[in-house]
Amino acid sequence: AQLDTLDIIVLSVILLGTAAYLTKGKYWGITKDPYAASFANANGLKAGKTRNIIEKMDESGKNCVIFYGSQTGTAEDYASRLAKEGKSRYGLETMVADLEDYDYENLDVIPEDKVVMFVLATYGEGEPTDNAVDFYEFITGEDVSFSESSDDTPLGNLNYVAFGLGNNTYEHYNSMVRNVDKALEKLGGHRIGAAGEGDDGAGTMEEDFLAWKDPMWAALAEKMGLEEREAVYEPIFGIVERDNLTKDSHEVYLGEPNKMHLEGTAKGPFNAHNPYIAPITESRELFSVKDRNCLHMEIDISGSNMTYQTGDHIAIWPTNPGHEVDLFLNILGLENKKDTVISVKALEPTAKVPFPTPTTFDAIIRYHLEIGAPVSRQFLGTLAAFAPDESVKAEMAKLGSDKDYFQDKISKNHYNITRTLSLVSNGKSWTNIPFSAFIEGLTKLQPRYYSISSSSVVQPKKISVTAVVENQLIPGRVDPFKGVATNYLLALKQKQNGDPNPEPFGETYEIMGPRNKYDGIHVPVHVRHSNFKLPSDPSKPVILVGPGTGVAPMRGFVQERAKQAASGEDVGRTLLFFGCRKRNEDFLYESEWEEYKNALGDNFEMITAFSREGAKKVYVQHRLKEKAQEINELLLKKAYIYVCGDAANMAREVNTVLAQIIAEQRGVPESKGEEIVKNMRAANQYQEDVW
Ligand code: FAD
Repeated sequence: AQLDTLDIIVLSVILLGTAAYLTKGKYWGITKDPYAASFANANGLKAGKTRNIIEKMDESGKNCVIFYGSQTGTAEDYASRLAKEGKSRYGLETMVADLEDYDYENLDVIPEDKVVMFVLATYGEGEPTDNAVDFYEFITGEDVSFSESSDDTPLGNLNYVAFGLGNNTYEHYNSMVRNVDKALEKLGGHRIGAAGEGDDGAGTMEEDFLAWKDPMWAALAEKMGLEEREAVYEPIFGIVERDNLTKDSHEVYLGEPNKMHLEGTAKGPFNAHNPYIAPITESRELFSVKDRNCLHMEIDISGSNMTYQTGDHIAIWPTNPGHEVDLFLNILGLENKKDTVISVKALEPTAKVPFPTPTTFDAIIRYHLEIGAPVSRQFLGTLAAFAPDESVKAEMAKLGSDKDYFQDKISKNHYNITRTLSLVSNGKSWTNIPFSAFIEGLTKLQPRYYSISSSSVVQPKKISVTAVVENQLIPGRVDPFKGVATNYLLALKQKQNGDPNPEPFGETYEIMGPRNKYDGIHVPVHVRHSNFKLPSDPSKPVILVGPGTGVAPMRGFVQERAKQAASGEDVGRTLLFFGCRKRNEDFLYESEWEEYKNALGDNFEMITAFSREGAKKVYVQHRLKEKAQEINELLLKKAYIYVCGDAANMAREVNTVLAQIIAEQRGVPESKGEEIVKNMRAANQYQEDVW
């Protein structure tokens, strides 16, 4: 049966591949996020330029488009998975599309026999993701108008499917999918199946998605008259070995994010498609305990045309640790091919290669795939067909189909793909999996965001980062889980502080970057602008709540106000609530606050909560309560309040406590207190930067 499947793959590759490629070498299979736009965009490889989705579907013979609104790659990944499943189980001709690549005025003339799916993440305060802003404003706009229909139900022809990715710890839970669904329905669209909602807050995103999609497919099959068939894995990309190239050939990408970087001509604009390779000019440890690390880094952007404003985010582009790259290559039996040069070619017109090629297996795994993330259950089901023997195949199929079994064996330990494969096969290598399955089934390695901890008024060309290193023991695992970006940063810090071969917690990184281009301690970054902003009038009072690394943007805010005060401006009251475990362990920037106090005088007050010093745990929310009277008075004077850090518990509790404070102090019912807080949020008087 395995051979049969492989035969089918080879056959489909041959059928779809171009003759030119066929003559050159061996196919390995096909790629991930076949449809992802970012690298393709940066390299001018965009598959077709039209912004007309109907035209695009017609010219590529598609009858189902899956639009995604994605910030961190998960929605994009789910969109790809729906596309693959629609094709393999129901023979739908699917394509994935980035919402920002198309116009929507012609959704009214989309033929009834086509399906439009929306996979929409909600970001921050109920906002659309960056790539979905235009679509969201269009579809929910008061005066939305379409190319032809002008009646009340212009979308009467539209058959759509909707799934949202959200987090119940945020107030506007899944508001994107809810609002879009409402808007489409109001415009006459016909939703097929339920509008699904995945909850990251409860940690059930993946299972929510899996539980939603089966009834959706059943409803879709019935509505469109589709026949379910035995799912066959069909690769979307062909991978061809380039025997005439070596990893030293100048045209081979060894991790360079795009052509400009390969050719040494990188220039702005620097953004999510094009990072700036920034020098790290200073780095140090902020904690004074042995087993936990928090890094302070200064990133120099003076050589770029990037700018930032206090309260913005910086994105750090990490690379995977060498040991994990090697384990991944080994379990696939690719260890001797790690430097083999390959080209990845889209075998169908709407697919886009998610990274530049020609490249090597090593570079793809190290720079472009999220190999450290917990593995998805659906992916294991897909890989079962390629197991090294029948018993392993049965085990994989069971893991893929039995939710509780998967939870117990894999999920609760947060195993990644490599560990899972190796565990299931008992170390036997998996040489039958087409490499493309990984490019399709794993998320693209994502940049990580950090709240900038400096003020742009104080240091416009240097960005401070405050990052706690993820290194936690998860019960059931022998070794701690290590965060990808933060351990890479830790290695960079060690290197900068004189260690020639840093190995934080035994991990090594390609610190010098592809072809040693990052020589002298550099890190790829870009800046993302945020709405987390001080009032333009510095005399307005501010209340800052930032425990742990949540203090990062607050440091920028206080720095800025101290500078304003020093230059003679009238700066209002600044109350800073900070919390950590112990004063002498993890009190971030302890000595700096005194300096700011010197500039700001009695108008600055820092209120601390140390959770592990007394018999009772004290958190910032308790301190807020103790200051109830002043907080209420400041709010009545139109103080701005800012909350940064942990979204799951802290930010939510601060919200609750604030409503209680207002209710008590003003003698109104708690429901009224809640309403006042809600209105403060709507008026931007209450701002959150939480993760
Ligand atoms: P990752 O590898 O991404 O892992 C992150 C977490 O996922 C782990 O803690 C773990 O719980 C889980 N996980 C993932 N894979 C596995 C696995 N295989 N096994 C077990 N567990 C796993 N952080 C800061 O320190 N400072 C900031 O100022 C800051 N600002 C932020 C601002 C914004 C807007 C956002 C969205 C996030 C911010 N963060 C900040 C968080 C930061 O972006 C990263 O998420 C964090 O540093 C962890 O990144 P990492 O790559 O080291 O860990």
